[in-house]
Amino acid sequence: MFLALAFAFQMGVLPDKWLSGGPNCAEIPDWQVHAYNEDLLILRQSGCVHYEKPFLYLLFGKERAMLLDTGAGNPGTAAIIEKLRRKMPVIVVHSHGHGDHVAGDAELKTLPGVTVMAAGYAETIDLSERKIEALPIPGHDAKSVAFYDERTGILLTGDSLYPGRLCVDDFPAFVTSMNRLLEFTESRPVSHVLGTHIEQARTPFVDYVVRTTYQPAEHSLELGRAHLVELVRELELMSGKPERKALRDFTIYPRPPRNFANGSTATP
Ligand SMILES: [Zn+2]
Ligand SMILES: [Zn+2]
Repeated sequence: MFLALAFAFQMGVLPDKWLSGGPNCAEIPDWQVHAYNEDLLILRQSGCVHYEKPFLYLLFGKERAMLLDTGAGNPGTAAIIEKLRRKMPVIVVHSHGHGDHVAGDAELKTLPGVTVMAAGYAETIDLSERKIEALPIPGHDAKSVAFYDERTGILLTGDSLYPGRLCVDDFPAFVTSMNRLLEFTESRPVSHVLGTHIEQARTPFVDYVVRTTYQPAEHSLELGRAHLVELVRELELMSGKPERKALRDFTIYPRPPRNFANGSTATP
């Protein structure tokens, strides 16, 4: 028996298993579209199209919709969003600026009624009777932003927290950001923490190797606030000295600073 608790979330359902990419790519659609509930669609790009197989989020308010991220490679995002948008105006924002999350921007910009914000945009988004709060969380990328949906209690964390390799480019900034994010959740109930990839296997402490397309036994997409608590705690234990550390449901993965002189943002 379930008790009715104080938080009046709009509930939803996550799948037991997502499509990744294969084993037979001819049978896998380019996009898997899952309705968490009527007003929140979660899209996953097929691993057969791009090994990063990122997740995108389409949230509907009364008058407007918000799309988080636009896909990797040559994603054809505009066509699928055009089908799903219910003729509503759409504001497009990004979890961060890496190439596997912004590849559909140019195409989406050509659609009437679609406004594509630059990566790093971090203002509260009012969809009419639904507000999405934004919190800048630099560290994985300078333009990383977390979004909190007051209607479902879902915290969207991009590549900063998900079941996989949490690549950290700016370690001090990441530590500060994850502390801020944890503090942010103290006054906001979190139903799920949802990121933008799955690289972890269902087997604890194990992740799929980079560029794996078919992941038949991958971890669930959803994490919880306890994972954020764990992340902050593990970062603190490193006392300012970045180290790679495999945890049960994700891996902390600091990497040395890379040269962005050519303007490339093609990293995950
Ligand atoms: Zn990234
Ligand atoms: Zn990514």
